[in-house]
Parts: sequence; C-alpha cells; structure tokens
Amino acid sequence: MSAKSYVNDTLELIKKYSSRQPIFLQCATEVLKSVTPLLEVNKTYEKHSVLERLVMPERTIIFRVVYIDDKGKAQTHFGYRVQFSSALGPYKGGLRFHPSVNLDILKFLAFEQIFKNSLTGLYIGGGKGGANFDPKGKSDAEIMRFCQAFMSELSKHIGYSTDVPAGDIGVGAREIGYMFGAYKKITSKFDGTLTGKKITWGGSLARKEATGYGTVYFSEELLREKGMDFHNRICVVSGSGNVAIYTIEKLQQLGAKVVAVSDSDGYVYDKDGIDLALLKDIKENLRLRVSDYAARKKGAVFVSKVNYEKGTNGIWSVPCDYAFPSATQNELSLEDAKNLHKNGCKLIAEGANMPCTLDAQKYILENKILYAPAKAANAGGVATSALEMQQNANMTSWTFDEVDEKLHKIMKDIYLRTSDTAKEFGFEHNLLAGANIAGFRKVADAMIDQGYI
Ligand code: NDP
Repeated sequence: MSAKSYVNDTLELIKKYSSRQPIFLQCATEVLKSVTPLLEVNKTYEKHSVLERLVMPERTIIFRVVYIDDKGKAQTHFGYRVQFSSALGPYKGGLRFHPSVNLDILKFLAFEQIFKNSLTGLYIGGGKGGANFDPKGKSDAEIMRFCQAFMSELSKHIGYSTDVPAGDIGVGAREIGYMFGAYKKITSKFDGTLTGKKITWGGSLARKEATGYGTVYFSEELLREKGMDFHNRICVVSGSGNVAIYTIEKLQQLGAKVVAVSDSDGYVYDKDGIDLALLKDIKENLRLRVSDYAARKKGAVFVSKVNYEKGTNGIWSVPCDYAFPSATQNELSLEDAKNLHKNGCKLIAEGANMPCTLDAQKYILENKILYAPAKAANAGGVATSALEMQQNANMTSWTFDEVDEKLHKIMKDIYLRTSDTAKEFGFEHNLLAGANIAGFRKVADAMIDQGYI
C-alpha cells in the first residue's frame, strides 16, 4: 500500500470510531499527513501497524466529579485523563479546567503531547486530562473542594513512574497545590507525581516561566538562522495567562515591544508597549480581565470581541512583525493569517497548542512566513516539568539560572532536531513537517522495539 493510502485509511478509521471528535481528527490529520514521506521510505511502520495503534489511546478514564458549592448545592462535572502513549516514559501532560473541555479536546491535546514530549529528548510519554469545570468566578473554597473531589478519583490512576500531570488552561499553582494536598492525603505519599508545584514544597524554579521563555528561545534560533532578531520588533501575544505573560517577559528582555494581549472577552492595544508589571498584577494577583488593564493604563484601548469581524480574532488585525498565539486551539483562522501577512508579519510562533487552523497553517507555509509550530516551540513547559521530576527524584533543587540554562539548551536542541529533520526530508522551510517527523519517528521506533502491546 502507498504511504498516502495508509495514512488516509487510518484517518478513515478515526472518522469511524471517533466520529464526534473533529478537533482530534484535525490534529491527527496534521501529524499523519506530515509523516507520509517517512512512511514512504520506511515500510516497517506499516508492517507493524504503528499508525492504527498510535491513534488509539492506551487508556481513557472518564469519571464523575461532585463538589459542594458555597450555597450548599452539589455540582456535578466530567473528569478525564487520557493516557495516550507510554512508549517513551510515564504519561506526562497537563490538566485543563475549562467549560469547553470534553473527550475530543483532551484526545487532541494528549496526542499532540506524545510528539512534543518525544521532541524534548526526555523520557516522557503523552497524556492530558481535565474537567469541564470553570474556575472563573469561583471562591477559593469552591476551587479547593473541586480539586479534592477531582483528585479523589484521579489519584487511583497516577504516580511518579506511571502518570505525572501538570497545569494547563485554568490550572495554575493554586489548583496544583490543592490537588497535591489531596493526592498526599489519599496516598500518604509526598512524591513528584504532580509538577508545577510551588517552589517551597517541591516545585522547580523557572517552571512558571518555561513555556513562554521556551517559545521565545525557539523563535530566536529560527530568526538567527535568517539573520533576524527581536530588537525593536513589534510583537502581538494573544491570551494573558501563564504562557502569554512569560512570552512577553522574555520578548521584552530581548528588546521587543509587545503592543497587544487578549482574553476571551477581547483584546487590548497599547501603543506604548504592554506594562508587564501591571498586567501581572491584574492577571496573577487580582484575577481580573484585560479590559481592567485598559481601564488602568493611559493610552491603552480595549476592543471587545463582539466587535471582531466574522471569522476573525480581532487581535490578529493589529500590525506586528512577530505574532505569538498563546491562548487556545484554533484561535488563528485563515482570514487571520491573511491579515497578519498583509500587515507585514514575518513570524508566527505558537505558544498555545494547535492555535492555527489547518487552512491557516497551509497559508502560512505557502507564503513563507516563518512558522514555529506548537509541538516544538512550546515544549519548554513540559521539558521543565521533567526537570522538576528529576529534582524531586534526587531530593534536590537547582537555581533559577541552572534551570533556565537547561531549558535554553533543550529549546536549541529541539530547534536543531526539527530543522535538521525538515532538511533531511527536503522541507527546508517547513518546521511543522520537521517536528512531526522527528517526534513521530522516535515514538514509532520505541513502539516497534516494545512489541505489540
Ligand atoms: P491560562 O489559563 O493561564 O491562560 C489562558 C489564556 O487564554 C487566558 O488569558 C484566557 O482568557 C485565554 N483564552 C482561553 N480560551 C480563550 C478563547 N476561546 N478565546 C480567547 N482567549 C482565550 O493557560 P496557559 O497560558 O497555561 O495556556 C495557554 C495555551 O498554552 C493553551 O493552549 C495550553 O494548552 C498551551 N500550553 C500551556 C503550557 C503551560 O505550561 N501552561 C505548556 C504548553 C502549552 P480567559 O481568562 O478569558 O479564559
């Protein structure tokens, strides 16, 4: 069978068995189509049914989570953990608490995580989990009770050598703290089963910064190869959560000016450059909205999402040299990519997971806009989680600079691995193909080595 038919047959299989999972299908389509050239030159993968095995999670756990809200009423949610692949190590990937969470989204995130983790060069498999719970507007006590209820089931399925969850959208240090406390109480173990912990009780310095910093380090390598840098460049960063804030921090350290950020209500344009201390205070301490930033900062303007043109995300109409989608999946459409291109954008670097739609990706690649794909560019977060696991296992902790240096080296290595693989297969400008092939090859080879399980 040709590699193309093998890929198409596998995608048909997904449509048949996961017919209501369009986001997972989108992600699988991207990966499988990219690895076709490898499958063409190496028939071993088809011989060992690697694709059919790889697109099916090793284990999917779905459970009920019940907690009591502040009014004394029982609230019920879905909890999930998708343990997709343990070919390279214990399942590793974040937990997302957001009302949009469902099995489709978590399968996409866990699938993406397999190849991202493979690219880090560390021994970690791929998983993801979460709940359709919205922490926004909840009291601390409600968040705590929810996290404890969630962990009362999840604790049965995780462990430092089996599955090590971390944070994602809606899960930061506060939620990790409550979940770690519950895990410890249930299991009587103080170990490295969760990452993203606070520094004073087993966390790693620079973990909080790692995804954002890592995305910028990766982009720096890409720009360097083209004789470009960040100095005096205008940047737009979507989102205003963990990834966005530390992307902005590193961009500013490297001399760039970030003029726009967003949240799910709209975006803020600040022509003088985002005041990061103010943004951190609003988002990390006060837990307010970007509209509150505009209200407090002279010259900043808030644009509500109700005013976005249909089919677009308003923030991408802001002219910039470099764009960093750092909010969520499918936040950058074909129209958005065209707007960015028209306004002279030279680089799109993905801090979020799968922020660009498939047609936007195609347009970006065809128009030779520099493209740093998520599974390579944002791998710094999970890599530093693995560094946290190493510190926990050795009962030690490294300084901020030590961790940052290791992260920087990991991102440079991921860039080389990605770009060398792209060149090996004749796709010099296509780091997406490079990342997918390099990530896939290592996992697929391990699956063959480990037999049919
Ligand atoms: P946070 O919860 O800290 O922040 C998410 C941000 O994105 C918030 O500002 C949120 O706004 C915004 N957002 C979420 N959904 C939408 C939407 N539909 N439209 C517009 N804005 C939206 O999450 P993180 O920063 O941790 O994660 C951001 C992305 O990065 C996700 O795709 C995640 O999977 C990915 N990622 C995260 C890693 C990490 O280490 N944290 C590692 C690798 C990838 P609002 O407050 O209004 O919801």
